[in-house]
Amino acid sequence: MQNLAETCERTAATTKKLEKVAIVAEYFKSTAPAEAAVSAVFLSGRPFPVWEETTLQVGGALLWRLVQELSGRTDQELTAAYRRLGDLGAVAAELPDRVGTGDLARPSVLAVQAAFRKIAAARGPAVKGAGVRDLLSQATPLEAKYIIKIMTGDLRIGLKESLVEEAIAKAYGTTLPEVQRANMLLGDIGETLRLAADGKLGQAKMRLFHPLGFMLASPAASAEQALSYFDNALVEDKYDGIRAQAHVSGDEVRIFSRTRDEITESFPELPDALAGLPQDAILDGEVVAWSYLATESGESGRALPFSALQQRLGRKKVSDQLMRQVPVAYLVFDVLYAGGELLIDRPLSERAKILDGLLTGRSSERRARTPGLRQGKLVFEPEEPSLSAQVIRSPVSQASSPEELDQLFEAAQARGNEGLMIKDPESVYTPGRRGKSWLKLKRELATLDVVVTAVEYGHGKRIGVLSDYTFAVWDGERLVNIGKAYSGLTDSEISEMTKWFLEHVVDDQGFRLMVEPKIVLEVAFNNMMRSDRHESGYALRFPRIVRLRPDKLPDEADALERVEEIYLKQ
Ligand code: AMP
Repeated sequence: MQNLAETCERTAATTKKLEKVAIVAEYFKSTAPAEAAVSAVFLSGRPFPVWEETTLQVGGALLWRLVQELSGRTDQELTAAYRRLGDLGAVAAELPDRVGTGDLARPSVLAVQAAFRKIAAARGPAVKGAGVRDLLSQATPLEAKYIIKIMTGDLRIGLKESLVEEAIAKAYGTTLPEVQRANMLLGDIGETLRLAADGKLGQAKMRLFHPLGFMLASPAASAEQALSYFDNALVEDKYDGIRAQAHVSGDEVRIFSRTRDEITESFPELPDALAGLPQDAILDGEVVAWSYLATESGESGRALPFSALQQRLGRKKVSDQLMRQVPVAYLVFDVLYAGGELLIDRPLSERAKILDGLLTGRSSERRARTPGLRQGKLVFEPEEPSLSAQVIRSPVSQASSPEELDQLFEAAQARGNEGLMIKDPESVYTPGRRGKSWLKLKRELATLDVVVTAVEYGHGKRIGVLSDYTFAVWDGERLVNIGKAYSGLTDSEISEMTKWFLEHVVDDQGFRLMVEPKIVLEVAFNNMMRSDRHESGYALRFPRIVRLRPDKLPDEADALERVEEIYLKQ
């Protein structure tokens, strides 16, 4: 593990991508493939390959306690070191070197992964903690630094998985696209390295039930701008739910989120609705909260805003009652694999036709699960609608002028959707990449003027500056917190604000400094939801600071009434 840790240090020491890639490639070449393979996973900032879906389940608080225990430091000393260094791994590097004498066997990379597996399998914080303690006490301070960084999923050495792919290509003399493709299909950068080392990248095969990366969209500022990338567009509503990739083989169905976690259990009504496709398939779409009531404009139902779906998220067990309260639908807009063939290299226009065929080809018995009709006969006691979800092909229109796009945009908003997705009919599906083949055109929600009530030190290059701000709105005479934001200000603004905040602390809570409520910020967000996370009873989705508002007094910040107004409008 020492070699790998030293490689990480050298990688962190340069800002040049090419140098980083060369350092990692050199390490791969000088390391046996089995060990290099596990290192590739670690270098991507993960304890386990993506497809495995294994997680350590070791929380930050537990790690904090262990580092404190091993270092013999007080909480205050550790807090000070953490503030200075910005992450717990770096703090651990300052632990006393208990293994310097060399009488203990130091862990190899393979041994570290074996220890990670044991920790992942262990139940309860006590047993997990013992596993982590064992591992750390065999490690040198430098090894401990990177073991902790891998456990927390953030190496902070400026290395992304894409650079590890480059290093693999360089180390084993293959091309980057070959490596990328194998990694995309396998979801395992370690296995990809092993194949590259053997000259067998071509053997990488798609595995059903192992999630692929999701194709991402770029924002478009206007209809004109959207059409500057391609002049004929396939256009769909942008639904506000959660992205979901469904893998279907006969009656077996598994659904994965954008973070490639399995979420089938959160939507027990979906597998049934998806089972029985005429071919094995991987579908891409959005799970949304759905109103099954016919609309005034004659549609048989419509998507509800994200806030409605929220109650359904992150649950392992979903009661029938909740399924009835918040019914969902799966809006499908793409197909990545069908009938044994990977379709991602086909143009969207072709994939769209294949998708239409797949969804209309569902076995009649399955389709008849929609209430009312079963096997061609009217059923008087239909299944309860909300207990069987709908799989709906996302409707597609064509547009080739900004005027047409604007009309579609208004219609989408009138249906309560977020805006439009504008797609190039010629485009291939690029897993995990954000390009200009998919564009999103969204309505800007109103911004809020808020008052900063508490601040925290940042991470990474924001070590030592107060860059994380908790902010509030007025509830009568009282300020109630509504969110927290990290990004948006320039470095010089942050350093100026840091100075000001340090001079206006009202309560030092260690991690958090409560400050005088004087600074007004304008914040933007994608969405607003009800939540008891903050005192206001609301939370913002993806909040970001638009600008400082030194022109406003704290009294002029927004009040809860305005928040409610925005919430109701969305
Ligand atoms: P954003 O999350 O704002 O970056 O927007 C991209 C997301 O919009 C995707 O990841 C999907 O979850 C979602 N989305 C909603 N409707 C569609 C659609 N018709 N096509 C593609 N993505 C969609």
